[in-house]
Amino acid sequence: MELKIAIASGKGGTGKTFVATNIAVVLERMGHPVRYLDCDVEAPNGHLFLKPETGPAEPVTLLSPAQVDLDRCTACGRCVEACQYHALTLIREKVLLFRNLCHVCGACTLVCPTGAIREGEREIGKLIHGRRGPMEVHYGLLETGEGGMAPRLIRRVKRHAGEGINLLDSPPGTACPAVETVKDADLCVLITDPTPFGIHDLKLAAAMCRALGREPVVLVNRADDVNRDLKIYCKEARLEIIGEIPDDRKIAESYSSGDLAVETLPEYGSLFHNLAERLIRRAQNPERVRVPHNGNAISVLPNSGPGETLRKESPRAPRTKELVVISGKGGTGKTSLAAAFCALEGKIAIADCDVDAADLHLILNPARRAGGQFSGGNQAVIDPDRCTGCGACADHCRFEAVRPVAGQDKTVYAIEESSCEGCGVCAIVCPEQAVRLTPAVNGEWIVSDTRFGPMSHARLGVAGENSGKLVTLVRENKNFIAKQSGLDRALIDGSPGTGCPVIASLTGADYALVVTEPTVSGIHDLRRVLDVILFFRIPSGVLVNKSDINPEKADAVRHIAEEAGSDFLGMIPYDRRMTAAQVEGLSIVEYTDGPITDTIRTIWDKVRARCFETKE
Ligand code: SF4
Ligand code: SF4
Repeated sequence: MELKIAIASGKGGTGKTFVATNIAVVLERMGHPVRYLDCDVEAPNGHLFLKPETGPAEPVTLLSPAQVDLDRCTACGRCVEACQYHALTLIREKVLLFRNLCHVCGACTLVCPTGAIREGEREIGKLIHGRRGPMEVHYGLLETGEGGMAPRLIRRVKRHAGEGINLLDSPPGTACPAVETVKDADLCVLITDPTPFGIHDLKLAAAMCRALGREPVVLVNRADDVNRDLKIYCKEARLEIIGEIPDDRKIAESYSSGDLAVETLPEYGSLFHNLAERLIRRAQNPERVRVPHNGNAISVLPNSGPGETLRKESPRAPRTKELVVISGKGGTGKTSLAAAFCALEGKIAIADCDVDAADLHLILNPARRAGGQFSGGNQAVIDPDRCTGCGACADHCRFEAVRPVAGQDKTVYAIEESSCEGCGVCAIVCPEQAVRLTPAVNGEWIVSDTRFGPMSHARLGVAGENSGKLVTLVRENKNFIAKQSGLDRALIDGSPGTGCPVIASLTGADYALVVTEPTVSGIHDLRRVLDVILFFRIPSGVLVNKSDINPEKADAVRHIAEEAGSDFLGMIPYDRRMTAAQVEGLSIVEYTDGPITDTIRTIWDKVRARCFETKE
């Protein structure tokens, strides 16, 4: 029997990979055939713990427009009209291709009447296959700058599912990559921690699973008695808590060195064994969704507000000096530190560009001024009365978003909303004109006031597409509210990872501050994010949070930062008061005058000197 168990989380850093790898090893010890499929293709870390013997990497390529044959091109402009992503433009009768905007849908080659657009292989990432004893390990590694291609690489990883138990290590969040991983799983396990950020992001992840028709279970990591709100929420939302892993410093230390708890901490063997048994039982008996999801719950607001008004008054608001706080992986404390920096600056324009798991508002408690829907693209819809079931749309859709549906007297085709990228190819090829494109609501933009200045933020809808575009909108709105408030400095809480939203957060920034932690996965992801920063030639600095978990690795971070030409800004020891401050809705520097506040203040002085006080 083939069983798929997805291990997911609403935000990074909850211990998703820690759980997935330990469960995989226990299942294998129990005699099950196990395949570990790491679908977190932007930051695959499972192999750092499982340490499989791997073969050569297999390049994953897609057919993509590579060249316009100028001898054949008549400059008719049909390709430009057909491209929904503005990846083609016609300048002086010459077609130009912007590769980074191309979604590789094939619309341009389909409509070109002279066959002038030549396709070539474009490498979007690699597949790596390995074994750890009898366990199969497969993972994808996305090329830097190919964030939009993550779902397609994930599909390729998932093709290696097979007989036995398939553990899918999902990307964090609720956007397309997570949906692609979870949508056909027999069981989705949501890993969370009992912090306000953890609870907030769990709500989003549970909504995603239920929208996909899957009833998830919750596994609480770093469980302690500090915050009972998680249990209250789960009870109200009728979410089953399938297990708890205690908040034990020994686990954090073992994880930081790349060790598996079930191998180095024998006292946790039975906990994971019992958990694995429960997960299999639940996966074999999936439950119906207990609380139906009510859409994206995005409120419908007029698409206007101070941002819009200002845009009309002053279409070119001056750019602020921008500091972007990012992290290679989630859960490093990036948002808590961003809030602390806002408090230390006192008055600053703020943008939360972590649109997939926006948490900064939980500390800054913004008062909403305005907001509106965000539509980053289209969604195809098939009229079943017109559809004759020829299947041309399904044959041409490169996103596997069209499925046959048995009707009363005929088979028709329908669009799977969560997979459709709105490219319009199905509408182009449909001989019955049964397909139309409608604007998709992908999220909501918001402008607010906080005690530290105006704030631009957003919410990406479940399976929201175009998070990069939403990040760009959040940044634009930030420029307008900064101007309105007479502020010339801005702090941006960027997305974790290295995909589209991170690139959109970083583009044009004056300084990038990378928050990392001293673990093998923290270091692995730091290297990837530093590559992106180097690519954009942005001055940067690195700080290590929870540095005393593994002083040796913290030192390694210092060397990596220096080698990459980044400023090494300092180390912040692990401090439980970070969570206590979060529970109170305060930044750590408002919560305590202790040594941690002094350390953060020293780091902030260095950052503001480098970012805001250096001459251009
Ligand atoms: S191409 Fe048109 S008619 Fe054919 S299956 Fe698709 S929607 Fe139906
Ligand atoms: S279903 Fe969506 S992704 Fe597929 S061809 Fe149609 S518009 Fe493009």
